[in-house]
Amino acid sequence: MSDLLTSALDAVGRGWPVFILGRTKRPLANCKACRDTNPVEHDPAACECLTCHGFYAATTDPARVTAMVTQHPRGLLAVRTGAVSVLVVVDIDPRNGGRLDTTLMPPTTAVATGNHGWHLYYRHPGHPVLSRGLPGFPGVDIKADGGYVVLPPSIHPVTRLPYRWLRVCGRVNEMPPRLRDAVSQPVEPRPGPAVATTAGGCGAGLMAGAGGISSPAALLDAHLAAVARAQEGRRRTTLYGAARGVARMVGAKALDTATAIAALTDAGQKAQQSERDIRKAIAGGFQAEGVPL
Ligand SMILES: [Zn+2]
Ligand SMILES: [Zn+2]
Repeated sequence: MSDLLTSALDAVGRGWPVFILGRTKRPLANCKACRDTNPVEHDPAACECLTCHGFYAATTDPARVTAMVTQHPRGLLAVRTGAVSVLVVVDIDPRNGGRLDTTLMPPTTAVATGNHGWHLYYRHPGHPVLSRGLPGFPGVDIKADGGYVVLPPSIHPVTRLPYRWLRVCGRVNEMPPRLRDAVSQPVEPRPGPAVATTAGGCGAGLMAGAGGISSPAALLDAHLAAVARAQEGRRRTTLYGAARGVARMVGAKALDTATAIAALTDAGQKAQQSERDIRKAIAGGFQAEGVPL
């Protein structure tokens, strides 16, 4: 068995959904059928293809993982981060000024990347955590909901160096409160016309009068909490309303599409909505707000 497959099955054994990237570290191309379908009609999370749609192909099914790695033996192995794997990964890139701050980032399961950086693995806290740069820490990215990271022993395409475990059987520790607060911080509103026009065109109360989106994390939580609170007969319409609100956040560039879909899908599932209804609510909400999916 190849080292890549051994590592993939180890990850699956920890409950981490994995998938395979191309040799250049980019997601593999979708098949023709998936390229040709209307993205509003075609749900990447429900697609049966082995490797289409990037991280949506991630799985904990050993047979599917074995098939992926066998078909792409020179690809890079990746784990989907976020609530789905209960992982938040701190991605430190020293070339961009990233520093390992041990008071903020205590020891935990960690990887030395093939590009002279580090990945620190922490437990996902359960509330949505955006994948984005860590505010106030240049060169440090958070990979959480809607994200993924490369796993050992993948080879970095440029340096040709392998990703290596630094603590092979290490535990995935909880984030300390300071780090947890930092990853949960609101996103700074981005200056520029995109925010001004989109936020200005928003009809509902949540963003109106708030001077743009000053706290997207809190706003996203509020949308999702509305779905969780809705009574049984009103859950479908509430999910649609939340999808419209979240679509506006995506339109204002306060949130990326993958995170939005993941968060709404999760909220819909927790509210016992069918996959079909969740998909329709998301597609309808984005369409109504004129935000492409
Ligand atoms: Zn496909
Ligand atoms: Zn597909």
